[in-house]
Amino acid sequence: MIISMRPHATKEEIEHVCERIREFGYKVHSIQGDERVVIGVVGVGDVTACLESLEAAPGVESAVRISAPYKFVSREFKQEHSAVRVNGVEIGAGEFMVIAGPCSVESERQIMETAEGVAAAGARLLRGGAFKPRTSPYDFQGLELEGLKLLRKAKEATGLAIVTEIMSDRDVDLVAEYADCMQVGARNMQNFALLKTLGTCDRPVLLKRGMSSTIKELLMSAEYIVAHGNPNVILCERGIRTFETATRNTCDIAAIPVLNELTHLPVILDPSHATGRRSLVPAVARAGVAIGADGLILEVHPCPEKAISDGAQSLTLEGFRNLMRDLRPYVELWKELRGAAMAAVG
Ligand code: PEP
Ligand code: MN
Repeated sequence: MIISMRPHATKEEIEHVCERIREFGYKVHSIQGDERVVIGVVGVGDVTACLESLEAAPGVESAVRISAPYKFVSREFKQEHSAVRVNGVEIGAGEFMVIAGPCSVESERQIMETAEGVAAAGARLLRGGAFKPRTSPYDFQGLELEGLKLLRKAKEATGLAIVTEIMSDRDVDLVAEYADCMQVGARNMQNFALLKTLGTCDRPVLLKRGMSSTIKELLMSAEYIVAHGNPNVILCERGIRTFETATRNTCDIAAIPVLNELTHLPVILDPSHATGRRSLVPAVARAGVAIGADGLILEVHPCPEKAISDGAQSLTLEGFRNLMRDLRPYVELWKELRGAAMAAVG
């Protein structure tokens, strides 16, 4: 159950509602939104009686029953598609957004050249890991603070918003100083301490699906962030582990429409990690636009053969330009359909 209070509900009205909820044997999980307080009601109890009682309480705008285990992120809670603002760039609204950049920030020259190249080709956000989750402890772990500073330099030169990975709750304040959007990688999708801390952070979060996680688990992880106070979550399908070895991961393309049914949060696709091979990235990227993703995140490197991580799946700058050119008709159609959908909901 979710109780939305009226925008100008008083403290006493809110406290009264919380008390009534507790009397019914439920726990209260309230979050302060931009305009109103929204109260999540969790636990077991007499839903119908509680709903009826709360609907009539002063200051209550609406009380809705939510059958999904994830509440705030569910479509039942909010019918309209949400847009998330990342430093002035809206993901989930009327424009198709492309995030591009290297897997890892490696040097000033590498990140500046990539940032300028992807910005000129139409990307609006720059990706690049400064803290890298690597399978082997002996592999490059990222430039850390130096990498964050280089991302800031690239942002100043190009105006691109910065998306970079956060691996530990201990680093949230540091990374938030430099990042416009905090990326939670597949390996940390269920790092609950990190998710809770990101819930209290004022930066939007790009939450990638764990490689062996179900869609429901992805949504429960998003719920952690939102329930702890941060509504600005973007979901990302990046391929899952299956028996197939022809690609690095198996791109679960249907996850996008499934998520669009289940949640109001924006959803993007990562064709780079989903395939692991440069030659496959353009086709999967086109599929992502066609199937209704809100954007793409793509790995691009000025010289993929010298990349420290994920060179095989990184596009060259020329490859990225060609991809952006070839996506144009798909993006035009996407805009038309999105415009119609937005007009239909008013
Ligand atoms: C990445 O974006 O470079 C990355 C490590 O991705 P994932 O967490 O999806 O493996
Ligand atoms: Mn990578």
